Amino acid sequence: MPDREPWDPCPAGELSGLQESLQARSRRLRSRRRFLLGGSVAVTLAGLGTYLLSSGSQANAAPISCIRAKQLIPSYIDGTLKDRQNLLSLKAHLAHCPVCRVYYEKLL
Ligand SMILES: [Zn+2]
Repeated sequence: MPDREPWDPCPAGELSGLQESLQARSRRLRSRRRFLLGGSVAVTLAGLGTYLLSSGSQANAAPISCIRAKQLIPSYIDGTLKDRQNLLSLKAHLAHCPVCRVYYEKLL
């Protein structure tokens, strides 16, 4: 007959207490996960905002063709180009298109 470890039944309430603490732990983990997820979304949005800010007003300018740019350049030069979208698009185009920039500078 081997020696038996002294063994006592669990005190009343210990198991349900254990269960509650496990449930509380998993609730904490779940809310922590939600927090982390929310945090990464916020970081993504902040990064996007920084990207939009760093690319400046050109970010909301619709791209235009060289033909369109050359149509807009004369009114841009004489200051009659008032449409904000056209203005932004033309500025963005001139910033990136050497051909139209040369055309623009010739007309100045
Ligand atoms: Zn162009």
